[in-house]
Amino acid sequence: MAPNSIFSDRLLNWWDEHGRKNLPWQQPRTPYRVWVSEIMLQQTQLSTMIPYFERFMARFPDLPALAAASQDDVLALWAGLGYYARGRNLNKAARMVVEQHGGVLPEAAGELSSLPGIGQSTANAIVSQAHDIPAVVLDGNVRRVIARHDAIEGWAGKRSVLTALWASAEKRLAPQRAADYTQAIMDLGATVCTRTNPDCAHCPVNSDCQAFRSNNIGRFPTPRPKLNIREKDLHMLIVTRSDGSILLERRPPAGIWGGLWSLPDADSLDSLAQQVGLDPIHLKPLPDFEHRLTHMKLNIRPKLARSEPAALKVECSEGKRWFGADEWPLLGLPQPVLGLLERNLHGDTA
Ligand code: SF4
Repeated sequence: MAPNSIFSDRLLNWWDEHGRKNLPWQQPRTPYRVWVSEIMLQQTQLSTMIPYFERFMARFPDLPALAAASQDDVLALWAGLGYYARGRNLNKAARMVVEQHGGVLPEAAGELSSLPGIGQSTANAIVSQAHDIPAVVLDGNVRRVIARHDAIEGWAGKRSVLTALWASAEKRLAPQRAADYTQAIMDLGATVCTRTNPDCAHCPVNSDCQAFRSNNIGRFPTPRPKLNIREKDLHMLIVTRSDGSILLERRPPAGIWGGLWSLPDADSLDSLAQQVGLDPIHLKPLPDFEHRLTHMKLNIRPKLARSEPAALKVECSEGKRWFGADEWPLLGLPQPVLGLLERNLHGDTA
């Protein structure tokens, strides 16, 4: 193929030979499966996400099954993927689709993007991949290809930069083979135009790539400005009963681990002890550890207490209850909490 033939032709030609055609959501490539894959791929690497996708599809093979599931069931399968709002929104959006669209995902990108958790790029990814309609997709891989190919400076979180990237992506769309084109540009970013060490020598669009031609690849894309990482002390309490059950609380829907079951926690040891009506000296310290979130470093200071022989005065409710030793491992607890329990309660039923 001539080096200066149109971008989409060169890309599709390359994809026919080198592209990924066996991703789990490509077989079959239904709107529901593409939707779930797109949501899972936000903030998550492909290799990490694939086993989650396969478990999710085994448990919720179609949209009505997801709509009928409880939030706890969905979050249990999401545990470890992080950014739990994605799982909650999938569940909520599935219910809305059942109520408002008879259980069938709408075809129009505008209607899709009115559902919780679906932005314009995700809506377009569903439309192009599931319905073969040309539409701009700007996930992280695509943004990197476009920023380099057109030498677009600035962080993509800025509206003006995003607008420039969008316009550049739009002018390249393939008039035909929309689904393949979307997959091709994502594959190019994932396998050739990688974040570090892009393989420009074997890139099908290197002849007119501005970053490559000016030997400036390292300048694109402009990284996100440094985040101000906050630190926070979090005192957590494992309370066990002699039957092996532990006390858990549901976290508020917004914020860290939103909507998940977790251990009782507080900013200070005194308020943690107060929550369960114990003197702090009865809380046995366990080794502290760190857990990093995108914007925050948590210094987790765990404690252990037995509810017996002196029974604790804990009022159970919908958001606070005891879970048996065979129940809590299946809940989808936040990873650091699950690790803490496994380290300290493994084989412990006393
Ligand atoms: Fe990316 Fe290099 Fe291809 Fe340009 S030539 S699109 S920098 S891999």
